Amino acid sequence: MRQSLRLLGIGGIGIIRMSGENCFDVLEKIFVPKKKQPIEEIKGYTMKYGHIADSTGSVVDEVLVSYFKAPKSYTTENMCEINSHGGNVVVKKILELCLSNGADLAEPGEFTKRAFLNGRIDLLQAESVIDVINAKSEKEAKTGIKQLEGFLSEKIAEIKKEIMDVMVNIDVSIDYPEYDVDEVTSKQITDMLDSVGKKLTKLEKSFDNGKIIKEGIKTAIIGRPNAGKSSLLNAILKENRAIVTEYEGTTRDTIEEFVTVNGIPLKLIDTAGIRKANDEVEKIGIEKSKEIANEADLIIAIFDASKELTQEDLEILNLAKNKKTIIILNKMDLESKIDENDERLKAVSNSILKISALKKQGIEELYDEISNLFELNEINLDQDIVITNVRHKNLIEKALESVKKAKETMENKMPLDIIAIFIKDILEDLANITGEIVTDDIIDEIFSKFCLGK
Ligand code: GDP
Repeated sequence: MRQSLRLLGIGGIGIIRMSGENCFDVLEKIFVPKKKQPIEEIKGYTMKYGHIADSTGSVVDEVLVSYFKAPKSYTTENMCEINSHGGNVVVKKILELCLSNGADLAEPGEFTKRAFLNGRIDLLQAESVIDVINAKSEKEAKTGIKQLEGFLSEKIAEIKKEIMDVMVNIDVSIDYPEYDVDEVTSKQITDMLDSVGKKLTKLEKSFDNGKIIKEGIKTAIIGRPNAGKSSLLNAILKENRAIVTEYEGTTRDTIEEFVTVNGIPLKLIDTAGIRKANDEVEKIGIEKSKEIANEADLIIAIFDASKELTQEDLEILNLAKNKKTIIILNKMDLESKIDENDERLKAVSNSILKISALKKQGIEELYDEISNLFELNEINLDQDIVITNVRHKNLIEKALESVKKAKETMENKMPLDIIAIFIKDILEDLANITGEIVTDDIIDEIFSKFCLGK
């Protein structure tokens, strides 16, 4: 078996991880423990102190080595982790020593891939490892960890069992047609298909929430120059000392920023444009606003309430039509010239808030309104299983399609062996999700998204 090992980043400590049947042989050639002990005597989940030395006996670093013995390790193989001092030079040198003594470099995700191929975790759990690592918010990390713990896998297993229980009866009926079980079986099949359909639909629906948790609510702040877009942005970002992650937007030249405010994950579109516009270098025109409004899940349309609604304001309002929109009457610290009951506003949205971006008043109400609009308070992460992965969603949709087809075969009173084929399709779709049957291409694609060392 190949060894694999990987650098796990550079910091105070460097960790070189090895997995594989012979990893202790490689380790033995380079590690000089303070207290020598045969490998058979060393227990898993223990650490040893010593030095890494090269072939001349010259000491490279002072290290702690953790031992994990098969099958009780991350990959289920023998594993060890050399904890050295961080920093490029030392870690690189130890890595080279491992390689020259028989180890191979690991691919991204290879440790998790081995855990999957060796049957310790299923594909769902392996994928959740990436989600946990990449989580941008607490909610997202929590859904990832739940999946890692196998909640989604259990749910899929439960649905599969329900199908299998009925499949057994179908097979009996097919094999022994002389027994008259058709009536009973037919009712069982219909009930089972209904129940499975309901459960899968619930999972499929959870994706909308999952997408929000994972990607954030795509939010566009639009308004004419001087309405207060940039002040509002500052109020949102600065107040919360938000951790901001920048992404390249889908539209040309836009930058998206991911922030979590009051537990609400927001992906703000074209914040760079708003900032730039504020420098008086370039004001965002209607065209640009249209572009970002098109992309958004949520539009925050902001108006300067100290002035009457202008033609430009009405154009902005027009962009927000037919979208989830919150209308903001800004500058409420000044005398108001816009009536919040103005029919032109109400025609676009019922969410109309008065705030002062400058004085940071009314911002909390804005967050509450977003939570309400997206029913964020309804998501109960402790109880509900939330699908966050597009691959899973597509396969669940496919399974639902198979459920629908199986139902049709029932309604059309097709022979049992034909119905059985369609029911087996559902099982196959579900097995694809957990990775019981999955092609190498898909496995490679999934693990290629991993970072090195995991
Ligand atoms: P933008 O062009 O839409 O980004 O607007 P800005 O955020 O740059 O705001 C334009 C001007 O309005 C600035 O001078 C702000 O200080 C001012 N402003 C923004 N919000 C308020 C507010 O709530 N009250 C008052 N009085 N002035 C505000």
